[in-house]
Amino acid sequence: MLDLSQFQATGKETVFHGRHINPQIYAGIDGNNWGLKDYEARGGYAALRKILGRDGGEGMSQDQVIAEVKASALRGRGGAGFPTGLKWSFMPRAFPGQKYLVCNSDEGEPGTAKDREILRFNPHTVIEGMAIAAYAMGITVGYNYIHGEIFEAYERFEAALDEARAAGYLGDHIMGSNFSFQLHAFHGFGAYICGEETALLESLEGKKGQPRFKPPFPASFGLYGKPTTINNTETFAAVPWIIRNGGEAFLAAGKPNNGGTKLFTISGDVERPGNYEIPMGTPFATLLELAGGVRGGKKLKAVIPGGSSSPVIPADTMMACTMDYDSIAKAGSMLGSGAVIVMDETRCMVKSLQRLSYFYMHESCGQCTPCREGTGWLWRMVDRIENGHGRPEDIEMLDNVAENIQGRTICALGDAAAMPVRAFIKHYRDEFVHHIEHKTCVVPAYI
Ligand code: SF4
Repeated sequence: MLDLSQFQATGKETVFHGRHINPQIYAGIDGNNWGLKDYEARGGYAALRKILGRDGGEGMSQDQVIAEVKASALRGRGGAGFPTGLKWSFMPRAFPGQKYLVCNSDEGEPGTAKDREILRFNPHTVIEGMAIAAYAMGITVGYNYIHGEIFEAYERFEAALDEARAAGYLGDHIMGSNFSFQLHAFHGFGAYICGEETALLESLEGKKGQPRFKPPFPASFGLYGKPTTINNTETFAAVPWIIRNGGEAFLAAGKPNNGGTKLFTISGDVERPGNYEIPMGTPFATLLELAGGVRGGKKLKAVIPGGSSSPVIPADTMMACTMDYDSIAKAGSMLGSGAVIVMDETRCMVKSLQRLSYFYMHESCGQCTPCREGTGWLWRMVDRIENGHGRPEDIEMLDNVAENIQGRTICALGDAAAMPVRAFIKHYRDEFVHHIEHKTCVVPAYI
């Protein structure tokens, strides 16, 4: 049972709105202390010192670092939830040529706004996490690909890189050791699809950001055709804490198979939208309470739990969920990037789907026919239903088109466009029928 008094006791608003039960990523952050000196005062770079044996200890081997991350049950925070330690173990460390490490800060999923805040307010934790990962996998060059529409985070990260280089935490022979790591920031182009890891690599190489056919996967054929490991910003940000405190401690902060704390961006119809760092496995009801509850005291209608591509969950089911990968999957959706979109009783589900469908049509890169054509068909059908021109057969056709996109495309954007459609129809079919039959919304007080 969580003790909410810890939140209320802080007594001061942060730039995040959030309150933190077991602060690992935002610990002590107040918006002005992102710099190196403050980071070091919070224990920053102690983990890097530890693995390199520059804290008076023996240091850690590459295998020991990977084992610690595996023990933490840290799962990728970008959306897929793949075990981080396992991913690191795929890197062919003995590969004789160049290998690369890439941070995916191309945060573009509607509803998600956590990575940009980590970069703005605690950039050194990402730099330290990447340096530790590079050491563990024998990598000497890394890039942080930052979403093109995020300017302050990019500039802040660049400034932090300068500080880290000047202090000897990056570059040749870090802290006098045999470990060298060059890290660079790359400002992307603002396309949603560049968050897909192979599209990101294409973009990083200076090409059009379009996903590659897989296999081969980046672990064997990544940036410039070389072995590459890609992790999300929040994933790297969790690594220093794990090395300082141990994988078991991180695991214990969450629940089995879902280690640690996680940042959730809660938006929509809540009193205090923002980022909240809470232990994995926290009841959704608690997260909602932290965000001040449903705005205006209205009734909860539905929740999109993991960014716009995750299937919508009706209120009753969601209120029984805990915020972790397994619980949300059991409810028929995905935790994704942890972007929780709350919808109250006044929300029209047809209108909501219309907006989502437009987004995916707009962001399709156009490489494969089911996605390029299908996302347009989906949007046009939902748009005509919303505008009172729907036909009785449209609902089945919507489901059929979505079914024929799902699993038939090069990358997951096709699924991301199709899954919300099927979930909206499954749970709120009566609203679509009402729109078609009455040419108006079923929600009387739609805002
Ligand atoms: Fe491009 Fe869509 Fe195909 Fe992905 S699924 S490669 S975004 S056309």
